[in-house]
Amino acid sequence: MTSAPVFLHHRSSLAHDTGAHPEQPARLIAIERELEQRGWLGYERVSSPAVDRQALAAVHPEHYIAAIEQLAARGGGQLDLDTVASAGSFEAALHAAGGAVELVDRLLSGAAPTGFSAHRPPGHHAERDQAMGFCLFNNVAVAAQHALDAHALERVMILDWDVHHGNGTNDIFHASNRVLYVSIHESPLFPGTGGAADTGSGEGKGFTVNLPVPTGSDDATYIALVDHVVAPLTLAFEPQLMLISAGFDAHRDDPLASCRVTEDGFAAIARTIRRLCAELDAPVGCVLEGGYALRALATSVVVTLQALHAPVAADAADPRVGPRARAARMRISEWWPALR
Ligand SMILES: [Zn+2]
Repeated sequence: MTSAPVFLHHRSSLAHDTGAHPEQPARLIAIERELEQRGWLGYERVSSPAVDRQALAAVHPEHYIAAIEQLAARGGGQLDLDTVASAGSFEAALHAAGGAVELVDRLLSGAAPTGFSAHRPPGHHAERDQAMGFCLFNNVAVAAQHALDAHALERVMILDWDVHHGNGTNDIFHASNRVLYVSIHESPLFPGTGGAADTGSGEGKGFTVNLPVPTGSDDATYIALVDHVVAPLTLAFEPQLMLISAGFDAHRDDPLASCRVTEDGFAAIARTIRRLCAELDAPVGCVLEGGYALRALATSVVVTLQALHAPVAADAADPRVGPRARAARMRISEWWPALR
């Protein structure tokens, strides 16, 4: 019996009340309505647990967690110009991180071949002790750290295709050589970080790869970067787990950015990652980040789920797998500083 892929969600996501704000409950409602019409694409729906506090505290200091908890208990308030918490936000954030951790547990135990953790608030802008850019806890970072700590993995890769640079994830793993963080993001754009020269620090030098793209970048740009940079990096690093910080605000319809990626682009990228990771025997899971054009968000999530769950056909002509991929790995080792 083959196990079903999982779609992790929790009703508390809808109780994170941001008021008149692009990061709104309607985002998840749009995604779920679209999936429901398609029979959930064969994904098993799972209600996410709240995150284990120890797993959360491995990324965020206790004083910061307590501050978010207390703010929500007081009814909420503004954390910065863009980032707001309501009474329901702490519980929502606990389940958003918990969904990402549950996804990792299911992928690494073999209970699910792939999955998608769809919650609010998003996470990749959250620093260890600072909320930012609509994000409270860094869900994907908590999940990646959990994979290292609880599953004793040595190599986790995070591909962040949200149109914004994931400054929080970038910084949390800046000095780590066990997490390869690769981000494709529009530049200049919020939060202004993620220059190509930022490649990590200390033992993590070379394990942060920032790929800023100009305004107007489309499917061709994104696919070329994935094929020619992300793919060989993946083969060189050989992650034991691939987590995608899956924001869909690089879509051409998105109101918060100016890239021009389409559903076809997201599908092509997801297919490539799926094939690469199948070759490496590494599971792939997505954690929702941004995406603010409701229709485009919903349809982009659909094509991503389809691509990740599609069977991988043996295709010797695909340059991303097999001997030619190994040759690409050798070529990239000449310039990727993390490899000798
Ligand atoms: Zn974003």
